[in-house]
Amino acid sequence: MPKIPTKYKFKKRPPNGFSKIEPTLAKFSAKMKAAESKPLPLNRPKHESTWEIYKLNHQRSRYIFEIYYKKKMISRELYDWLLTNKFGDKELIAKWKKKGYENLCCLKCIQAKETNQGTTCICRVPRATLKETQKDKGKDTRCVNCGCRGCASSD
Ligand SMILES: [Zn+2]
Ligand SMILES: [Zn+2]
Repeated sequence: MPKIPTKYKFKKRPPNGFSKIEPTLAKFSAKMKAAESKPLPLNRPKHESTWEIYKLNHQRSRYIFEIYYKKKMISRELYDWLLTNKFGDKELIAKWKKKGYENLCCLKCIQAKETNQGTTCICRVPRATLKETQKDKGKDTRCVNCGCRGCASSD
């Protein structure tokens, strides 16, 4: 299981603008901490224990991506600082800039060897296609890596 950091020690003082986004980042940290200590309901499979963490990690990276690339709220300096201090997943954000990966949930889902049969993760299959091929309703179509319900760009 990859260790997703929830606590930070800053090597350098944060650049200007950090105080503006700090409350939001603190909220993410608090949620991550809570998720890490929360026991999984007894009837759920073990692999689901990391889903919540993945989700929060994704949301926080997304937040940084949005405030820098979309809303242009923060400086390049602060953006780089945030990534250096692991507030966002640099590799995941790099994927979001690529066509077809705009909504990618986590890097595991595109590493073919990590998925069940070395095929594309179920969450990368467009929902429209999925409905046709998976007529058996009630089947859990969430991916085992992070619990994603679908992150193809066409969804
Ligand atoms: Zn996904
Ligand atoms: Zn997946």
